[in-house]
Amino acid sequence: MKSGFHFGKIFGISIHIDWSWLLIFALVSWSLASSFGLAHPGWTVSMQWGVALTAALMFFASILAHELAHALAARAMKVPVKNITLFLFGGISNIQKEPNTPLGELIITIVGPLTSFILGIVFLTLGVGSFALNNISLANPATALSQIGPVETIFIWLGSVNILITFFNLIPGFPLDGGRLVRAALWAVTGDLSRATHWAALLGQVIAWALILAGISMVFGASIPLLGSGFINGIWITFIGWFLQNAAIQSYRKVIIQDVLEDVPVKRMMYTDVPIVNAAQSVQTLIDNYIMRSDNQAFIVFDGEKMVGLITFDDVRKVEPQARINTLIKDVMTPSQKLIVVAPEEDAANAFDRLESGNIRQLPVVTGNKVVGLVRRKDIIRWLQLQSQFQ
Ligand SMILES: [Zn+2]
Repeated sequence: MKSGFHFGKIFGISIHIDWSWLLIFALVSWSLASSFGLAHPGWTVSMQWGVALTAALMFFASILAHELAHALAARAMKVPVKNITLFLFGGISNIQKEPNTPLGELIITIVGPLTSFILGIVFLTLGVGSFALNNISLANPATALSQIGPVETIFIWLGSVNILITFFNLIPGFPLDGGRLVRAALWAVTGDLSRATHWAALLGQVIAWALILAGISMVFGASIPLLGSGFINGIWITFIGWFLQNAAIQSYRKVIIQDVLEDVPVKRMMYTDVPIVNAAQSVQTLIDNYIMRSDNQAFIVFDGEKMVGLITFDDVRKVEPQARINTLIKDVMTPSQKLIVVAPEEDAANAFDRLESGNIRQLPVVTGNKVVGLVRRKDIIRWLQLQSQFQ
């Protein structure tokens, strides 16, 4: 999840919005505007849209509150939180390490659904309270809804949606909150995080496949208990199942990789024969004399005695072939101050995390001002392949 934009910071935690979230925002606003239009024929079009956009924004705030609850609980328990990403299916708190104990996991997990549930109850109470205040009879809910004003309409919708978010997140498929609770329980019983994750992820995949099958049957006209029926609903359920299936496999892989790479220092798997090039040489010279003469993909750039940056195969590819003779290495390299680096004593798990989140192939390994090696994605993968868990 690399695409999107930075939205801001709340309590020091940066909020990232993926482009896919804009799609869901537009979809929610549009479907709300049309259903508010049906329920309130008296409203003008601008009023329908005004209310719909406000409701959609508060929906966004509700999901953010859910994720912030996870993030703040994690931080309170000394587990670092990188950021919160909002995307198609809601939010993800990028909590960087696994909690230290099953109880820690339980607390960090439960605060999310709890926040959604409390928000749901508060909004519903506010909305339903206004029926009583305005002497609206609840005997016929449809007419009752058409009699309430815009503020109450928003409250009722947000209340129900937050309850829905609560239950969706409690589906026991890892990495959803419900699956994390299952994992915390298994972890507490077995005392083994990897094994607990393995079982929780397996259950997650079973549930994901059940949703996919249910969704496909709904597309073909079946009616499924709890999920209902209908073509569009079926497509949604299939899509959610497919997403959960991927998420279960990926989070399992991530936990296992973290587990294997933790406590292994970077220096054990770094590549030490780092090639050096001169900043004032042309990109064409780099291709002719270095890239085509070895299988190196990254070169440390020196200006005289001083290291000034790193140039990679990908940097070179971005230069138009006819411009390569007149382009200097220093013009397209990543300068030292912008490089993401790692220390030789650091955990390889940290290095892998940086490679993944930066979507890059290699990190310079630096002590003081000196580059002592490169840790490359392929070296880490080779190292992982040599471990029994990956055979
Ligand atoms: Zn959650």
